[in-house]
Amino acid sequence: MVSPASHGLHPDRSKRHCLKILRALSTYIDGELPATVCKEIRMHMGACPHCESFVESLRQTVVLCRQLKPRPLSETLKSRIRQFVLAARRPS
Ligand SMILES: [Zn+2]
Repeated sequence: MVSPASHGLHPDRSKRHCLKILRALSTYIDGELPATVCKEIRMHMGACPHCESFVESLRQTVVLCRQLKPRPLSETLKSRIRQFVLAARRPS
């Protein structure tokens, strides 16, 4: 019998598992994953320092992005965007 703790933690094999986990991570951060997948990710995090530090920095990035408030555009930028939009609307 193979105990759950000794399953899938061989370095070479876990790398492939890493990729799978990483793909699910952004959804995991948003809290939209099914509970079973969340559990799988959390278990992998406990066993894999790479993914653990990655998810931590990803989490911080998401928090930072959510805190960012849109800055008012400068007059220069506004007129540049206006020119750009006008030029794009003009039939060539
Ligand atoms: Zn990993």
